[in-house]
Amino acid sequence: MSEVTTPSPSPAAPKKMDDIVALCRRRGFIFQSSEIYGGINGFWDYGPLGASLKRNLKNAWWNDVVERELIGPDGNPVDIVGVDCTIIMNPKTWVASGHVGGFNDPMVDCKESKSRYRADHVVVLGSTAPGARLYAFIENDEEQRAAAVKGLTRYEKRDALDPAVHVVRPFMSISAEERARTMGPHAKEAGTLTEPRQFNLMFETHCGAIRDENSLAYLRPETAQGIFANFWNVCDSTRVRVPFGIAQIGKAFRNEVTPRNFTFRSREFEQMEIEFFIRPETANEWYRWWRDWRFSWWQQIGLAGENLILREHDRDELAHYAKEGAGTSDIEYRFPFTAPGFGELEGIAHRADFDLKAHATHCGKGDKMRYFDQEKNERYFPHVIEPSAGADRGTLALLCEAYTPDPSRASGVYMNFAPRMAPVKAGVFPLVNKDGLPEIAERLYRDLRRKHNVEFDEKQSIGKRYARMDEAGTPFCITIDHDGASSGTATIRHRNTQAQDRVALDQIPAWIDERVG
Ligand code: ATP
Repeated sequence: MSEVTTPSPSPAAPKKMDDIVALCRRRGFIFQSSEIYGGINGFWDYGPLGASLKRNLKNAWWNDVVERELIGPDGNPVDIVGVDCTIIMNPKTWVASGHVGGFNDPMVDCKESKSRYRADHVVVLGSTAPGARLYAFIENDEEQRAAAVKGLTRYEKRDALDPAVHVVRPFMSISAEERARTMGPHAKEAGTLTEPRQFNLMFETHCGAIRDENSLAYLRPETAQGIFANFWNVCDSTRVRVPFGIAQIGKAFRNEVTPRNFTFRSREFEQMEIEFFIRPETANEWYRWWRDWRFSWWQQIGLAGENLILREHDRDELAHYAKEGAGTSDIEYRFPFTAPGFGELEGIAHRADFDLKAHATHCGKGDKMRYFDQEKNERYFPHVIEPSAGADRGTLALLCEAYTPDPSRASGVYMNFAPRMAPVKAGVFPLVNKDGLPEIAERLYRDLRRKHNVEFDEKQSIGKRYARMDEAGTPFCITIDHDGASSGTATIRHRNTQAQDRVALDQIPAWIDERVG
């Protein structure tokens, strides 16, 4: 193997969300659902490249969580089994879990623009002086903030922009009188925002022919409850013993009040959840282990830089059942639309025995449902550590992280996916469409395809073919040229550095295996 050329990579340029969304649409990563009919708010489809990327993410999760050996904090292999539960469950499930009673987001409507917002995401800007005009906008939305500032008088502006005067306040905290002089984010008049109201986020449907309250059912708002409801089945049908985990990947549905930020807040999305059952006194140890392992997992699959953080919740943020427990933390990513802030990718929570106890109570069997520890001859409800991640937010983070503007390239950009995540692992090109080169390239392509997703491309100039692969994030491009055909070799171009290696044809499959693993 010999090095052919090594151009240096160009300096990083800032990333814009609009450019990322445009590339996703243009190259078939993500489309609006039912786009030909004008789309539907909060629903997204994955095109060929996006479907492969998301599948690679989910496969990596399943493989690393369920199939590969993991060593836990006690030095023993971590025991995790998988399940695949239905989206529609007996509606009593959602009464037990608290979703029917409490799965609410506060929302606010604008009577003028007919827009609906999550009230806890709306903030108001303006002077605190009596009678001053207030301007509402969505937190972290810089465009709306700028529009709100523009609406202020010169006098108000001086106050509003003076950090000494605290004038950005949560909408939920202002009085009815202040609401009456608040301009909505998309309104031309003040006082059009309603009082915040609770809104149940579960989608409802009916099972069977008669649509009445007896046939009412819900689309699951999280995959976790399918796991909890099957805890006893799994214990009875497998040889698991506490500590052990149950994992599931699947769709979840939430009728989000304000779906926004591309796929970040969707109404239909996929979760990757683990419920890890433990003895209560080991909660701290397992919580810390899961938190740290999950953080390093996201780093390993390509979110290695400073855009990824681990944030431990303050005590007043914790769910009621977690207050006395080991803790809750979020793994957060700095998306272009949250920058300089961060958005949640995964939450790791100590849920204590809340869910198992709630299901035991609601199904009427109560304490009889306690887990029996044979070794200790003891019955108890195990505690739970729950690492709950979003596959769509994960995919979006991979897309945002990979997007690398590079004006020196024909494509102007390349997608810097880790080889394990890249939708296409290699492109195989004959330099020209004659002299036996296409036949050699096709043989190699067939050989590689037995294991990997590779593409064969013989159209257009080699530069254009590289550009297409750069946008798809393909880490390696293999070109059969005349020198190679006579010496039984090909050049392999590295996506990021554009450096080229010359490798013997018969060694290329092993070369690719080693790098995309
Ligand atoms: P948020 O506060 O952003 O609404 P959450 O804390 O309600 O999120 P969880 O209920 O903990 O989220 O769900 C676990 C994971 O599911 C989240 O970390 C996220 O990755 C994903 N998720 C939740 N809601 C959505 C959504 N509307 N669209 C896409 N992914 C979501």
